[in-house]
Amino acid sequence: MSEGLFQKLPLPDGGTVRQPVGLYIDGQWIKSREVLETVDPATEEVITKVYLAGTEEVDLAVKAARNAFKNWRKVHGSERGSLLMKLADAAEKHIDTLSAIEAMDSGKPKDSNARGDVEGTIALLRYCAGWADKIYGSVIPTGSEKLAYSKRLPIGVCGQIVPWNYPLNMAGWKIAPALAAGNCIIIKSAETTPLSLLYFAQLVDKVGFPKGVVNIISGLGKVAGSHIASHPGIDKIAFTGSTEIGSTIQKLASSNLKTVTLECGGKSPFIVFEDADIEQAVKWAAVGIVFNSGQICTGNSRIYVQEKVYEKFLEKFKDHVLADYKLGSPFDESTVVGPVVNKVQYDRVLHYINVGKNEGARVVLGNEQNPSKKGYFIHPVIFADCHQGMTIVKDEIFGPVVAVSKFTTEDEVLEKANDSIYGLAAMCFTQNLERAHRVSDELETGMVFINSAENSDIQAPFGGVKMSGIGSELGAPGIETYTHLKTVHLNLSNKL
Ligand code: NAD
Ligand code: MG
Repeated sequence: MSEGLFQKLPLPDGGTVRQPVGLYIDGQWIKSREVLETVDPATEEVITKVYLAGTEEVDLAVKAARNAFKNWRKVHGSERGSLLMKLADAAEKHIDTLSAIEAMDSGKPKDSNARGDVEGTIALLRYCAGWADKIYGSVIPTGSEKLAYSKRLPIGVCGQIVPWNYPLNMAGWKIAPALAAGNCIIIKSAETTPLSLLYFAQLVDKVGFPKGVVNIISGLGKVAGSHIASHPGIDKIAFTGSTEIGSTIQKLASSNLKTVTLECGGKSPFIVFEDADIEQAVKWAAVGIVFNSGQICTGNSRIYVQEKVYEKFLEKFKDHVLADYKLGSPFDESTVVGPVVNKVQYDRVLHYINVGKNEGARVVLGNEQNPSKKGYFIHPVIFADCHQGMTIVKDEIFGPVVAVSKFTTEDEVLEKANDSIYGLAAMCFTQNLERAHRVSDELETGMVFINSAENSDIQAPFGGVKMSGIGSELGAPGIETYTHLKTVHLNLSNKL
């Protein structure tokens, strides 16, 4: 690529942006041998090309991070917190540009979606900044002849690999707690959405983190990603993405017994009991499968409705989605649903829609009104009369496609809800608190939302069980996961 490390790019809403396209390693922007085009999924036009890290560049980043860790681990927590606060302020100043870049590169509607992602990232930077000088272990009661205590120390150099569905937001979930706890990082964006994280790297550079503490790269999963996962110079790996790659990463990370945190796929069941507030259930069900074009790991892609309210729910659900989820350009203020992220995902979702039809599911709301103009737009699809044997009930589709089934009893729906390899989240709608409490205990998931969906909080741990992942992000556990415990035995006596 003959172009430089920064490019002046036009934004679809009229402005221009000075977009970095290089690799941010050891406080420097560098080029590499390989480049990759990134595309705007709303127009199918190439936005620009970014430099890709090969194994050599990953090695450089690891060397820089290892070197930086020698001093960074000794930097006082309050100073780390203050740098994170400055980073949050810088991101806030650039919120409009960051939202526009995210919208252009991923297809998220700028105002109704991308902006919220950036706001969430800023809030998390501030939350973790507050933690930075409040991370400590405990005193362990052992008797008066010694003092035993544990300390929570940074793990060291952390590799972080993020997906394309929440490009900057998922990066924030990894960057903020890792730095608060005193680690150095190498973070790799997804191939389809490298731009927002590169822009964010400029802000990291500006606020004055010591060089080598934060390294931000674009790269292919099978080249840079797998080199990060297996690298002997990296102590921990944190990954969000598919279950298949999560499993590969766990294997690669075993080479030096890295600590592994995985946030993988899901097929979250959404249960509507007959005593539920149906209007509320309908609204949350739509948020949980249509928002972000259904590209949400906790997306409620399976809905189970008790027979008495089944048809009523379906009718209201259809009407609500048609009325409130306008499909369109990510830069149109009234748009709620943009395109899916790329051609691969577009073909994959359309394939599943066909599978659902061929398997005999009833189409309550179809994709027929799909405008055949440019862009990877998919209208929400509601399938009804589904059963457990159907592919659309088993597989994570990761698009605005939902499979609705009928149930009769609580035991039956629990069995169906738990009949999945995944265990990320579950949603339960009922006005009976006793039942809600009982059902939430029985659901084999890392998270349960009662009378809501998709409303996680940065203060509360987020993570899955079964094949949805290992460990938690966010909240206090999200900080702890970037520390290791060191136990100190201080002998106070002269007895052996
Ligand atoms: P993916 O798992 O292939 O990619 C996620 C990240 O992992 C990317 O940064 C990618 O470069 C990297 N990666 C890929 N192969 C790697 C390897 N061998 N070693 C190390 N890193 C590697 O996900 P995808 O292709 O972007 O999406 C495929 C499916 O994954 C989706 O359809 C969806 O079902 C699921 N997904 C889930 C989430 C989630 O949040 N749980 C997010 C995105 C995608
Ligand atoms: Mg893109």
